Amino acid sequence: MLRSALLAASRSPQVRTVVEKFPPTHAIVERFVAGELLDQAVAATDELVATGRKVTLDHLGEDTKDAGQAADTAEAYEHLLTALKETGLAANAEVSVKLSAVGQFLPVDGEKIALENARRICEAAKEAGTTVTLDMEDHTTTDSTLSIARELREDFPWLGIVLQAYLRRTEADCRDFSGPLSRVRICKGAYKEPESVAFQGKHEVDLAYVRALKVLMAGEGYPMIASHDPNMIKIAGQLAEWNGRSRDSYEYQMLFGIRPEEQLRLAEAGNTMRVYLPYGQEWYGYFMRRLAERPANLTFFLRAMATRG
Ligand SMILES: Cc1cc2nc3c(=O)[nH]c(=O)nc-3n(C[C@H](O)[C@H](O)[C@H](O)COP(=O)(O)OP(=O)(O)OC[C@H]3O[C@@H](n4cnc5c(N)ncnc54)[C@H](O)[C@@H]3O)c2cc1C
Repeated sequence: MLRSALLAASRSPQVRTVVEKFPPTHAIVERFVAGELLDQAVAATDELVATGRKVTLDHLGEDTKDAGQAADTAEAYEHLLTALKETGLAANAEVSVKLSAVGQFLPVDGEKIALENARRICEAAKEAGTTVTLDMEDHTTTDSTLSIARELREDFPWLGIVLQAYLRRTEADCRDFSGPLSRVRICKGAYKEPESVAFQGKHEVDLAYVRALKVLMAGEGYPMIASHDPNMIKIAGQLAEWNGRSRDSYEYQMLFGIRPEEQLRLAEAGNTMRVYLPYGQEWYGYFMRRLAERPANLTFFLRAMATRG
């Protein structure tokens, strides 16, 4: 119930205005977001890399309704990738891109515009010597995102995709995308989805996550295990061992600000540990999905609201 309400609020302009104007929000947002500026994102990347972690940077934004804004987002990624190259961070830092931020939902030629903008970002990543992963959004975008990914992979075979374990289709998608070189981030899924397409209960989603992990770990690609869940992390490690995988043939991923001690533990144990680091002004949707995921995050927020003034 609470999760559904928060996920609905994440797409409400009215709630957005209230939450954005509430002063303590900003202090809480800082826990999950590097800052609003490129320099802050680069500085945070530098700090994470210095502690043995890798990074994937997300220039925040989604659901773009305007072609100019979509092009501006692509340009922001180009600047970011240039900065990563110039600071020597590109070997340890890639970027994550939401296709809806670069035009996928535009009413006219949305997919075509998103493909062109994503291609610009991939060119810039190639020039910088790093990679791109296409984030996955709600289920209405899955086919379009995978078809754009397939097209881009013809020129950029290192392009990563994301599959969401809560979708009933995902086990089959894992099989389709587990070929040589295929970089696949497997996560549980962060959107409100109908029962017709997605498992609803935590236990069911966890079981689906393990099934997806089994397929990806037995495949020939490069699985990226995106979860904070101790059980999923343990099972992924066991499956890697049973499939005779070397440590450089898969990686763990977690969100910035969540379980940092566990991130360091995994990195210190010799694993590749990548932190998803968002930055930029459009933090609202991302922030609300993080509140929806974990009641403790919400309690923290509500306590701040109750004690304001
Ligand atoms: C790198 C990365 C990229 C992602 N990209 C996408 C994407 O493209 N599309 C998408 O839909 N979703 C994405 N997600 C979000 C993902 O789908 C889940 O919503 C989110 O990761 C929560 O699921 P979980 O696997 O961490 O476990 P949950 O089921 O949320 O939590 C399970 C357990 O993990 C531990 N845990 C979780 N959070 C915390 C915390 N804050 N502090 C301490 N312990 C905690 C607790 O033990 C908890 O019981 C991404 C997640 C990550 C990590």
